[in-house]
Amino acid sequence: LHNKLQDLKGKIRVFVRIRPLSPREEAGGCRHVLLKDGREGSLAMLPDEKRRLGAKAWDFDGVFGGAEGQAEVFLEVSGLVVSAVDGHNVCLFAYGQTGSGKTHTMFGDEGSEAGISPRAAGELFKVLEKSKEGGSMASWNLSVTMLELYNDHIYDLIKGKGEKVSLKFGGKSVEMIGAESEEVFSEAALLAVLRRGSERRRTSSTAMNADSSRSHMVLQITISSLSVTGRETTGKVTIVDLAGSERLSKMGKVADEQLRETRSINKSLSSLGDVIAALKKKSAHIPYRNHPLTALLSDSLGGSSKTLLFVCCSPADYNRSESVGSLDFAFRCRGV
Ligand code: ADP
Ligand code: MG
Repeated sequence: LHNKLQDLKGKIRVFVRIRPLSPREEAGGCRHVLLKDGREGSLAMLPDEKRRLGAKAWDFDGVFGGAEGQAEVFLEVSGLVVSAVDGHNVCLFAYGQTGSGKTHTMFGDEGSEAGISPRAAGELFKVLEKSKEGGSMASWNLSVTMLELYNDHIYDLIKGKGEKVSLKFGGKSVEMIGAESEEVFSEAALLAVLRRGSERRRTSSTAMNADSSRSHMVLQITISSLSVTGRETTGKVTIVDLAGSERLSKMGKVADEQLRETRSINKSLSSLGDVIAALKKKSAHIPYRNHPLTALLSDSLGGSSKTLLFVCCSPADYNRSESVGSLDFAFRCRGV
């Protein structure tokens, strides 16, 4: 396993998750137009869809269909997540149009429907406690930050009033000014922070007259530990629930505010695409600082960190062009 994890350094693995048709879509007679292609990780459009959009087929590191639930998805990422305890920087993204299952995948609901973040919380504390009992680790420290990016501004989701956060660029590092980092000592405490932050993201967007799917959310869990021999190790898990990637056309009549919002989202997602493209070309200059989103992720994307992209897709016929857009984006991200 250790070698397998080493192997992932600096690479981006891409998984697709196709949500099931919703009961309403089923009742309305929607067709499921995406097809797992038999071979693991392959995906295609139904044959008669090809006439509309051209022959489309993609290869990914894995494809989760409607049959695979939250537990199966977490099983695929848990090794990566706990490698943060050994000092690795790990970054997990969810990309896709609004309603495609990003928040479900990254956060989810209670119990069996819990998504990656709450499951990661459980797994991290299990590993930390085991390491300490095992006698190799003398002490550990775990802290969380939770930020929301909306219209090019960064807001703190841990602090009560959603204070604004600014970025200060040093030589190689990016410092967050005004972001609270909360230390937590148990799984329950971490879950409470996650719940509170998600709730704040919803209420802050309602206050700004927006939908929470129009903002990015960045959760960072930093783990430091001290071995019995006195060696200090720090690693970080970054979980990003991106804003919806849909274009304006489907949104019908749009107000100025929505136009601004969509432009801001498009700019941030294309900056992310530019960073990934530069990493892929192994460019000497990676344009992290072009956007607050990529600036925040500069120590977690590329370099020696390990990145996993979840592309969330609706299988429904009326979402076909957004799905193709997301799958094309994801396909371009492969091979970094
Ligand atoms: P997004 O965050 O991309 O806008 P959501 O995660 O909010 O989308 O998902 C939209 C709806 O679809 C929610 O009601 C969610 O519970 C449901 N959903 C998404 N993915 C799945 C899935 N894999 N299985 C079952 N329900 C899902
Ligand atoms: Mg969402």
